[in-house]
Amino acid sequence: MYNDLLEQLKDHDAKLVAVSKTKPVGDILALYEKGQRDFGENRASELAEKQQQLPRDIRWHMIGHLQRNKVSTILEFTHLIHSIDSARLYKEIVKQARKSNIKIDGLLQIKIAEEESKYGIDPNGINEFLTEINQKPAKDLRICGVMGMASFVEDEQQIRREFRQLATLFAEIKSRHFAEDSHFREISMGMSGDYKIALEEGSTMVRIGSLLFGAREYI
Ligand SMILES: *Cc1c(COP(=O)(O)O)cnc(C)c1O
Repeated sequence: MYNDLLEQLKDHDAKLVAVSKTKPVGDILALYEKGQRDFGENRASELAEKQQQLPRDIRWHMIGHLQRNKVSTILEFTHLIHSIDSARLYKEIVKQARKSNIKIDGLLQIKIAEEESKYGIDPNGINEFLTEINQKPAKDLRICGVMGMASFVEDEQQIRREFRQLATLFAEIKSRHFAEDSHFREISMGMSGDYKIALEEGSTMVRIGSLLFGAREYI
Protein backbone atom coordinates (compact mmCIF):
# COMPACT_ATOMS: atom_id res chain seq x y z
CA MET A 1 0.00 0.00 0.00
CA TYR A 2 2.76 2.43 0.98
CA ASN A 3 4.62 2.34 -2.33
CA ASP A 4 1.40 2.44 -4.31
CA LEU A 5 0.30 5.50 -2.36
CA LEU A 6 3.63 7.23 -2.94
CA GLU A 7 3.26 6.65 -6.68
CA GLN A 8 -0.19 8.26 -6.68
CA LEU A 9 1.10 11.22 -4.70
CA LYS A 10 4.04 11.69 -7.02
CA ASP A 11 1.70 12.16 -9.96
CA HIS A 12 0.18 15.11 -8.08
CA ASP A 13 3.37 16.41 -6.51
CA ALA A 14 1.82 15.95 -3.06
CA LYS A 15 3.38 14.93 0.26
CA LEU A 16 2.30 12.20 2.64
CA VAL A 17 1.74 12.72 6.34
CA ALA A 18 1.33 9.27 7.89
CA VAL A 19 -1.22 9.65 10.67
CA SER A 20 -0.07 7.41 13.50
CA LYS A 21 -2.51 8.41 16.26
CA THR A 22 -3.40 5.53 18.61
CA LYS A 23 -0.77 3.31 16.91
CA PRO A 24 2.28 1.97 18.76
CA VAL A 25 5.79 3.25 18.11
CA GLY A 26 6.68 -0.11 16.53
CA ASP A 27 4.24 0.60 13.69
CA ILE A 28 5.78 4.03 13.17
CA LEU A 29 9.27 2.60 13.12
CA ALA A 30 8.29 0.00 10.52
CA LEU A 31 7.15 2.76 8.17
CA TYR A 32 10.16 4.89 9.06
CA GLU A 33 12.36 2.05 7.90
CA LYS A 34 10.65 2.18 4.51
CA GLY A 35 11.72 5.81 4.29
CA GLN A 36 8.71 7.71 5.67
CA ARG A 37 9.70 10.77 7.73
CA ASP A 38 6.49 12.80 8.11
CA PHE A 39 4.12 11.56 10.80
CA GLY A 40 0.96 13.16 12.18
CA GLU A 41 -0.62 13.02 15.62
CA ASN A 42 -3.82 14.65 16.84
CA ARG A 43 -3.06 14.86 20.56
CA ALA A 44 -0.29 16.92 22.08
CA SER A 45 0.43 14.42 24.86
CA GLU A 46 0.68 11.48 22.47
CA LEU A 47 2.94 13.41 20.11
CA ALA A 48 5.23 14.45 22.98
CA GLU A 49 5.42 10.90 24.29
CA LYS A 50 6.12 9.24 20.94
CA GLN A 51 8.75 11.66 19.72
CA GLN A 52 10.86 10.84 22.77
CA GLN A 53 10.97 7.19 21.76
CA LEU A 54 11.60 7.66 18.05
CA PRO A 55 14.36 8.88 15.72
CA ARG A 56 15.14 12.59 15.80
CA ASP A 57 14.79 13.13 12.09
CA ILE A 58 11.07 12.41 12.08
CA ARG A 59 9.06 15.49 11.11
CA TRP A 60 6.08 15.62 13.47
CA HIS A 61 2.82 17.18 12.30
CA MET A 62 0.22 18.31 14.81
CA ILE A 63 -3.07 17.73 13.00
CA GLY A 64 -5.67 17.78 15.79
CA HIS A 65 -7.29 20.55 17.78
CA LEU A 66 -4.60 22.14 19.93
CA GLN A 67 -5.49 23.63 23.28
CA ARG A 68 -3.64 26.81 24.11
CA ASN A 69 -2.25 25.42 27.35
CA LYS A 70 -0.64 22.54 25.42
CA VAL A 71 1.23 24.66 22.89
CA SER A 72 4.43 24.86 24.91
CA THR A 73 4.54 21.06 25.32
CA ILE A 74 4.97 20.33 21.60
CA LEU A 75 6.53 23.42 20.06
CA GLU A 76 10.13 22.32 20.32
CA PHE A 77 9.78 19.18 18.22
CA THR A 78 6.86 19.94 15.92
CA HIS A 79 7.55 20.52 12.25
CA LEU A 80 4.15 21.85 11.21
CA ILE A 81 0.96 22.69 13.10
CA HIS A 82 -1.95 22.03 10.72
CA SER A 83 -4.68 23.05 13.11
CA ILE A 84 -4.48 26.78 13.80
CA ASP A 85 -8.18 27.40 14.13
CA SER A 86 -8.46 30.69 16.03
CA ALA A 87 -6.71 34.01 16.46
CA ARG A 88 -6.27 33.20 20.15
CA LEU A 89 -4.38 30.01 19.33
CA TYR A 90 -2.34 31.83 16.70
CA LYS A 91 -1.31 34.45 19.26
CA GLU A 92 -0.46 31.84 21.87
CA ILE A 93 1.82 29.99 19.43
CA VAL A 94 3.58 33.25 18.56
CA LYS A 95 4.00 34.05 22.25
CA GLN A 96 5.40 30.63 23.17
CA ALA A 97 7.65 30.44 20.11
CA ARG A 98 9.12 33.82 20.94
CA LYS A 99 9.63 32.83 24.55
CA SER A 100 11.51 29.66 23.58
CA ASN A 101 13.25 31.25 20.62
CA ILE A 102 11.74 28.74 18.20
CA LYS A 103 10.60 29.26 14.63
CA ILE A 104 7.55 27.23 13.74
CA ASP A 105 5.41 26.70 10.65
CA GLY A 106 1.65 26.46 10.70
CA LEU A 107 -1.46 26.09 8.55
CA LEU A 108 -4.81 27.79 9.03
CA GLN A 109 -7.51 25.20 9.58
CA ILE A 110 -10.61 26.29 7.74
CA LYS A 111 -14.08 24.96 8.28
CA ILE A 112 -15.22 23.60 4.94
CA ALA A 113 -17.47 20.73 6.02
CA GLU A 114 -21.14 21.43 5.65
CA GLU A 115 -21.82 19.27 8.68
CA GLU A 116 -21.58 20.92 12.08
CA SER A 117 -19.20 20.34 15.02
CA LYS A 118 -15.94 20.67 13.14
CA TYR A 119 -13.10 22.88 14.26
CA GLY A 120 -11.80 25.56 11.96
CA ILE A 121 -11.97 29.20 11.04
CA ASP A 122 -15.24 30.18 9.39
CA PRO A 123 -14.54 30.95 5.71
CA ASN A 124 -16.55 34.16 6.06
CA GLY A 125 -14.28 35.35 8.85
CA ILE A 126 -10.98 34.53 7.22
CA ASN A 127 -10.15 37.99 5.88
CA GLU A 128 -10.88 39.57 9.22
CA PHE A 129 -8.68 36.95 10.90
CA LEU A 130 -5.81 37.58 8.48
CA THR A 131 -6.07 41.33 8.75
CA GLU A 132 -5.87 40.98 12.50
CA ILE A 133 -2.77 38.79 12.46
CA ASN A 134 -1.09 40.53 9.52
CA GLN A 135 -1.03 43.82 11.39
CA LYS A 136 1.68 42.33 13.53
CA PRO A 137 3.56 40.00 11.22
CA ALA A 138 5.22 37.34 13.31
CA LYS A 139 8.49 35.82 12.18
CA ASP A 140 8.18 33.24 14.91
CA LEU A 141 5.17 31.60 13.30
CA ARG A 142 5.18 31.31 9.53
CA ILE A 143 1.82 30.59 7.91
CA CYS A 144 2.42 28.13 5.06
CA GLY A 145 -1.08 27.46 3.83
CA VAL A 146 -4.42 25.98 4.78
CA MET A 147 -5.88 22.74 6.10
CA GLY A 148 -9.39 21.36 5.97
CA MET A 149 -11.51 18.28 6.50
CA ALA A 150 -14.44 17.33 4.33
CA SER A 151 -17.68 16.00 5.79
CA PHE A 152 -17.79 12.27 6.58
CA VAL A 153 -20.36 11.42 3.95
CA GLU A 154 -20.74 9.02 1.06
CA ASP A 155 -21.67 11.78 -1.36
CA GLU A 156 -18.57 12.29 -3.49
CA GLN A 157 -19.95 15.45 -5.02
CA GLN A 158 -20.28 17.04 -1.61
CA ILE A 159 -16.72 16.07 -0.66
CA ARG A 160 -15.42 17.43 -3.95
CA ARG A 161 -17.35 20.68 -3.47
CA GLU A 162 -15.84 21.14 0.01
CA PHE A 163 -12.27 20.47 -1.15
CA ARG A 164 -12.77 22.78 -4.09
CA GLN A 165 -13.94 25.48 -1.73
CA LEU A 166 -10.72 25.09 0.28
CA ALA A 167 -8.54 25.30 -2.86
CA THR A 168 -10.41 28.42 -3.97
CA LEU A 169 -9.99 30.00 -0.53
CA PHE A 170 -6.30 29.15 -0.60
CA ALA A 171 -5.89 31.01 -3.90
CA GLU A 172 -7.85 34.02 -2.62
CA ILE A 173 -5.92 34.20 0.64
CA LYS A 174 -2.65 33.88 -1.21
CA SER A 175 -3.38 36.72 -3.60
CA ARG A 176 -4.77 39.00 -0.89
CA HIS A 177 -2.39 38.38 1.97
CA PHE A 178 0.59 36.27 0.89
CA ALA A 179 1.20 37.26 -2.74
CA GLU A 180 4.91 37.85 -2.17
CA ASP A 181 5.40 34.94 0.19
CA SER A 182 6.69 31.75 -1.47
CA HIS A 183 6.20 29.78 1.76
CA PHE A 184 2.44 30.08 1.53
CA ARG A 185 1.93 27.05 -0.70
CA GLU A 186 0.35 24.13 1.17
CA ILE A 187 -3.19 22.78 0.97
CA SER A 188 -3.46 20.00 3.54
CA MET A 189 -6.53 18.00 2.60
CA GLY A 190 -7.45 14.35 2.05
CA MET A 191 -7.64 11.35 4.39
CA SER A 192 -7.88 7.58 3.78
CA GLY A 193 -11.42 7.74 2.47
CA ASP A 194 -11.23 10.85 0.32
CA TYR A 195 -7.60 11.51 -0.61
CA LYS A 196 -8.11 10.71 -4.31
CA ILE A 197 -10.72 13.44 -4.60
CA ALA A 198 -8.48 15.79 -2.59
CA LEU A 199 -5.57 15.21 -4.98
CA GLU A 200 -7.78 15.92 -7.95
CA GLU A 201 -8.82 19.18 -6.29
CA GLY A 202 -5.27 20.38 -5.67
CA SER A 203 -4.10 18.94 -2.35
CA THR A 204 -0.37 19.32 -1.71
CA MET A 205 -0.39 17.25 1.48
CA VAL A 206 -2.59 14.30 2.41
CA ARG A 207 -3.01 13.02 5.99
CA ILE A 208 -3.49 9.28 5.86
CA GLY A 209 -3.90 6.94 8.81
CA SER A 210 -6.03 3.82 8.56
CA LEU A 211 -5.06 3.03 4.99
CA LEU A 212 -1.42 2.70 6.11
CA PHE A 213 -1.74 1.40 9.65
CA GLY A 214 -5.07 -0.42 9.61
CA ALA A 215 -8.28 0.62 11.30
CA ARG A 216 -8.03 2.30 14.69
CA GLU A 217 -9.61 0.92 17.81
CA TYR A 218 -11.08 3.52 20.11
CA ILE A 219 -11.43 2.73 23.74
C1 LIG B 1 -7.24 10.81 12.06
C2 LIG B 1 -7.04 11.95 11.17
C3 LIG B 1 -6.64 11.76 9.83
C4 LIG B 1 -6.43 10.40 9.19
O1 LIG B 1 -7.63 9.68 9.13
P1 LIG B 1 -7.73 8.31 8.31
O2 LIG B 1 -9.14 8.26 7.91
O3 LIG B 1 -7.35 7.23 9.26
O4 LIG B 1 -6.81 8.38 7.15
C5 LIG B 1 -6.43 12.90 9.07
N1 LIG B 1 -6.59 14.14 9.56
C6 LIG B 1 -6.96 14.36 10.83
C7 LIG B 1 -7.12 15.75 11.30
C8 LIG B 1 -7.20 13.27 11.67
O5 LIG B 1 -7.58 13.51 12.94
